[in-house]
Amino acid sequence: GAPISLHNVTRHYRQGGTEVPALVDVTLDVRAGESVAVVGPSGSGKSTLLHVIGAMDRPDTGTVVVGGTRVEQLSRRAAAAFRRGVGFVFQHYHLLPQLSALDNVVVPLMPIHVTFDRHERAHELLDAVGLGAKHAAWVGDLSGGEQQRVAIARALVARPRLLLADEPTGALDSRTGDEVLDLLAQIQADYGMTMVLATHEAAVAAQCSRVVSLRDGAVVADHALWDPQPEE
Ligand code: ADP
Ligand code: ADP
Repeated sequence: GAPISLHNVTRHYRQGGTEVPALVDVTLDVRAGESVAVVGPSGSGKSTLLHVIGAMDRPDTGTVVVGGTRVEQLSRRAAAAFRRGVGFVFQHYHLLPQLSALDNVVVPLMPIHVTFDRHERAHELLDAVGLGAKHAAWVGDLSGGEQQRVAIARALVARPRLLLADEPTGALDSRTGDEVLDLLAQIQADYGMTMVLATHEAAVAAQCSRVVSLRDGAVVADHALWDPQPEE
């Protein structure tokens, strides 16, 4: 897993004529292999925090170091390369509806040089999320829970050291959400990844090793729930 270190990170957005704070002086250290739930009400900065860590957004001030990389200093091109080493899971899956489950999982492997068979690897990941039998299905024909499993397989296929999940169970009924969450937690521990997961559901946060609470863009609480397995 990749350690994460944010120091005095601030990010404002312009809305109309005013500057709205999304992150305010956030300082946060995450050890390799931790699973961190980021909780807080809607608009408290959870998505922005994930975007800043994953090089999808740049802070106004402050430093962001992920696995030794100064993320906020990356050029557009370097940021794109950095993002290939990060797994992303979104609330609404963001799959390519015109492709099969297997082809969706293969997508992140296409732009990178690999020494293994891409389709074989994608099959392995679909098996790991329990969808091996549905590899040929068009993702539009799958249930929400199945689509999120495909998205998890896609997020993991390039073996990222960091997994970022933004409300991964937010669009699922509670039973399906629990299953998807169990799967995420199991895979995160098995692969020893660092995970940062945004959620507004307390039950989801309770599955993580640590809970960081945001309010109006600031960290207002930070609690360890259990000690994650040392991964290296
Ligand atoms: P959360 O994920 O906790 O709901 P966000 O990070 O999405 O919070 O948003 C934090 C604040 O920043 C909110 O006030 C939101 O409206 C604002 N915000 C987020 N993204 C943008 C954007 N691209 N443009 C303008 N305002 C934004
Ligand atoms: P979700 O709930 O699926 O995470 P959000 O509504 O929080 O979706 O945000 C979707 C996208 O819109 C994000 O990229 C976020 O940065 C952006 N965003 C959030 N709030 C605003 C806003 N007030 N103005 C413009 N963009 C925003």
